[in-house]
Amino acid sequence: MGELDLIEQIRNNFACGSSKSVALGIGDDCAILHPPQGCEVLVTTDFTLEGRHFRRDLHPPESVGHRCLARGLSDLAAMGATPLAAFLSLALPAQILTESAGRAWITRFFNGFQALGEMHEVPLAGGDTSQSTGGKAGLILADIVLIGSAPRGKALRRSGGSAGDAIYVTGQLGGAAAELSAIQRRRPKRVARVTTTDGHPHLFPEPRLDAGDALLRRNLATACLDVSDGLSTDLAHLCRASGVNAEIEQAALPIHPLSRKRGAKAALQDALHGGEDYELLFTAPASVRMPSSIAGVPVTRIGALTKRRPGQPLMTLVAPDGSRETLKPSGWEHFSPTKNTAKKALKKRPR
Ligand code: ADP
Ligand code: MG
Repeated sequence: MGELDLIEQIRNNFACGSSKSVALGIGDDCAILHPPQGCEVLVTTDFTLEGRHFRRDLHPPESVGHRCLARGLSDLAAMGATPLAAFLSLALPAQILTESAGRAWITRFFNGFQALGEMHEVPLAGGDTSQSTGGKAGLILADIVLIGSAPRGKALRRSGGSAGDAIYVTGQLGGAAAELSAIQRRRPKRVARVTTTDGHPHLFPEPRLDAGDALLRRNLATACLDVSDGLSTDLAHLCRASGVNAEIEQAALPIHPLSRKRGAKAALQDALHGGEDYELLFTAPASVRMPSSIAGVPVTRIGALTKRRPGQPLMTLVAPDGSRETLKPSGWEHFSPTKNTAKKALKKRPR
């Protein structure tokens, strides 16, 4: 199989015929998209790099494909956008296409990618395919671009929060970090075997597109972003963008059962700093009566935004006994050796 065969295979598997938004998909120099009337176009791009975001000896290929697409979809969800089309650029070591085990890896990668794409009706409208450098030791690199749409002026931003707003999160936190930790600890090391995508917050996270869409359409959120790097890091982004401080009530945090099993201390670390949960973190005026679930996903109030005051910490964690401590952004940050040394070595911690 060569590059052209691979593109042909991708094209056959991802017919865009049924998509209203893609006037011309894979096969020409550019795709042609038709955004809905009255909408703005939103664009996001995310790398998935072997050794950084996944390991071939630990992650099933379906999970790599799923997570590649999920990361882009989650960014659209965070803005309340509806996906129009995805574009996937792949760099592959030569033997992936020439050896049957490699071709099987690619097929399974696309199975995972496609299953999630079909669930959210996201057509794959193009991409690029290239051989990666490094011969046999070459790495698999994938870059996903997602194009979405949102009613003009309505996309949910990080910057709309005000002091007094309540802070909410969808779903549960810490599950992805807990599952990743279990996968990394397992001996002998092997590719995780899974029979269903349910209940695998690290391997098969669920982008919250329906919840983001509902927040936008029902005008429920003042600010929103997705929890990709960890609550502490992502909340800091929201606070800075909105010009406010935040208080988080530790007892209110909805901690994933996989994380709870690790004991109270580890569970709290997972929930605050774990990252890759791909839940939505959003704010709304205290007067808004927030439903207990949105688009079938539970919503939990975890704190409030407060006025920014000189000398006061950006974020405060309030313990169950009422004691307060500064909450530092300690989630994932690329190229920040000081921040990440407390965690496992960069290479060992795919993110
Ligand atoms: P060009 O050289 O003009 O950029 P290519 O030969 O790279 O064209 O691609 C041919 C067609 O196949 C294009 O429509 C492109 O979007 C699509 N394509 C290439 N690689 C991929 C991929 N990995 N996934 C989806 N579509 C792809
Ligand atoms: Mg090209």
